[in-house]
Formats: sequence, C-alpha cells, structure tokens
Amino acid sequence: MEKTATKKGPVISIDGPAGTGKSSATKRLAEVLGYVYVDTGALYRAIARIWIDEGGESMGTLSSDRAVEIAKNTQLEFRRMPKMNPANRVLADGVDVTDRIRTPEVSMAASKISAIPGVRDALFGLQRKLGAVGKSILEGRDIGTVVFPDADVKFFLTASVDERAKRRLMELEAMGSDPPSFKELKAQIQKRDHMDKNRSVAPLRKPKDAILINTTKYTLDQVVAKMLAVIKK
Ligand code: C5P
Repeated sequence: MEKTATKKGPVISIDGPAGTGKSSATKRLAEVLGYVYVDTGALYRAIARIWIDEGGESMGTLSSDRAVEIAKNTQLEFRRMPKMNPANRVLADGVDVTDRIRTPEVSMAASKISAIPGVRDALFGLQRKLGAVGKSILEGRDIGTVVFPDADVKFFLTASVDERAKRRLMELEAMGSDPPSFKELKAQIQKRDHMDKNRSVAPLRKPKDAILINTTKYTLDQVVAKMLAVIKK
C-alpha cells in the first residue's frame, strides 16, 4: 500500500484522551458537514481483539511480534450499515468485530499494542488512505501530529478524569454490558492515559497548531458549535 497518500481535499483531525467526547463530536461534525468519519481507535481495537483471542498476552516475549504480524496481515475496513447500531461497522478479514471491541479489556490491550512501533507502522498507510480522500474527519491520538500533520483544521479535546470516567460508565451501561465500578474505570482511564502519553512512538500530545477544547462543562451540542465556528473561520 502507498505509504503516504496525498491529501485530495480538506481533512480535520480530532485528538485527545478517552472519554473527552471525541467520538460523539466527530460523528456529529461529520454528519453536519457531510464528511467521511474515521475512528482510528477502532483499528487498534480490532487488532487488539484478535491478539487477545489468540492468547497474545500470554505469549511472553513473542507477544509483540505477534501483534505486529496481526496488524500487517489483517485486512481492516469500515463499512456503513445505516440500519445497525453503531452504523459504522469495523471488519477484520471480512468479519464484523464492531460489537466485540468496546470492552474495557480491549481498551487496555489496544493501548498496550499501540505502543509497539511495528503496529503503528502497519496501520499508518490505511489511516492515511482513508483520510486522504478529503472531506474527512479522523479521530485518534496522533492524527494531527503523525498521520495528518498536514490536516487543515486540528482539534485537541480534554476533560477532567472524573467526567471522562462518568461518561465511559454511562456509555458501557447503555451498551448493556456489566461495567466495572466508577473507581475502577477511573483507574483504567488513568493507566491508559499514562501509557498513551508516555510511549516512545507517537505519544498522545496536543499538536502545536491544534485548537484546545476542554469539554468538561460542555454539552455535545456546545462542543460541536465551537468546532463549527472554528471551521467556518
Ligand atoms: O480512541 P479509543 O479509545 O478507541 O482508542 C483505543 C486505544 O487505541 C487508545 O487508548 C490508544 O492507545 C490507541 N490509539 C492510538 N492512536 C490512535 C487511536 C487510538 O494509539 N490514533
């Protein structure tokens, strides 16, 4: 695959830690603008899912190599299925894994394998290709810094840890799963933040030219309105 696809139209990047409202804001913004929506975390999650299913974590020193192999050899794609919830489905080698990638176990594993340079490298070209079509919004951790340093508008979202854990809890409850306690979720989010911010490749950080939005006290509508105001400028 072509390594660095050339951007054919406007690209918006939205980065930030978990639970800041990135996904909801990105989806809404894509709808309003008629842009393509790319959830890059879902790609890392799909690889993590397969890695867990194969017993990757118990492979000792070979476990990183296996994660890289999976990332290199798995055909990942997004497919829009408007009648399903969520409408954006993630397929790994043709199998729909969407409903199996949102568990706390997969969140932690995704954070672990995403620190492996070979995994990031394997997913780079696909993310670039998905966004380069133009009129696209990509959300993730390193979109504005690494995948699309040439993005036209960049946002970086933050929120207090308590608020983020509260939102994640509500999300998991809405999915009908049996979520961990608030305290446990908060600890998991803090651990994932630590790993994402301190890894040696593409650590989570605000791109210098990104607009910072602290969403702690804002509703989704307010966040989207702020973003639209910036984009229109
Ligand atoms: O965004 P989401 O919480 O679904 O991402 C899951 C994990 O995937 C993150 O904690 C992060 O470790 C990794 N990720 C990444 N780079 C991205 C998107 C996600 O490292 N662009």
